[in-house]
Amino acid sequence: MTRIGLGYDSHRFDPSRPLILGGVRVSDTAGLAGHSDADVVLHAITDALLGAAGMDDIGELFPDTDPTLKNADSAMLLTEVLRRIGEKGFRPANCDVTILAERPKLSPHKPAMRQNIARLLGLPADGVAVKAKTNEGMGAIGRAEGMAAMAVVLLQSR
Ligand code: MG
Repeated sequence: MTRIGLGYDSHRFDPSRPLILGGVRVSDTAGLAGHSDADVVLHAITDALLGAAGMDDIGELFPDTDPTLKNADSAMLLTEVLRRIGEKGFRPANCDVTILAERPKLSPHKPAMRQNIARLLGLPADGVAVKAKTNEGMGAIGRAEGMAAMAVVLLQSR
């Protein structure tokens, strides 16, 4: 059996924090605001995994009112979700991500993000795609108030 899931996330910029995307430290400054490490890419992937498995979303599982999740490593949250999905008999088959960000330039970081996401999901590198685009100056993303990410994940039964 195969199951598909869609995830979306967005965070405002917070230049006082490092920028972590796909578990990769992309910048020491152009970071994102959030209770956890604000990794918008891993949050979108985590919600896609949860959606495919028909489970509650990331905000229900890891509420931003939980003090133990302050500055939490989103890779740990994703790993915990993978464990729970594994208990239901599912594993990821592939993952496709699109990041929407006016800045910083993300193309130099795409290979590292792809490799790290593949490692976290237990997939070969070609089982993960990471695309990055600007919003052509339109709307909040276009004004660089923050960034967003979308992810699709396919799960298959073990
Ligand atoms: Mg988030």
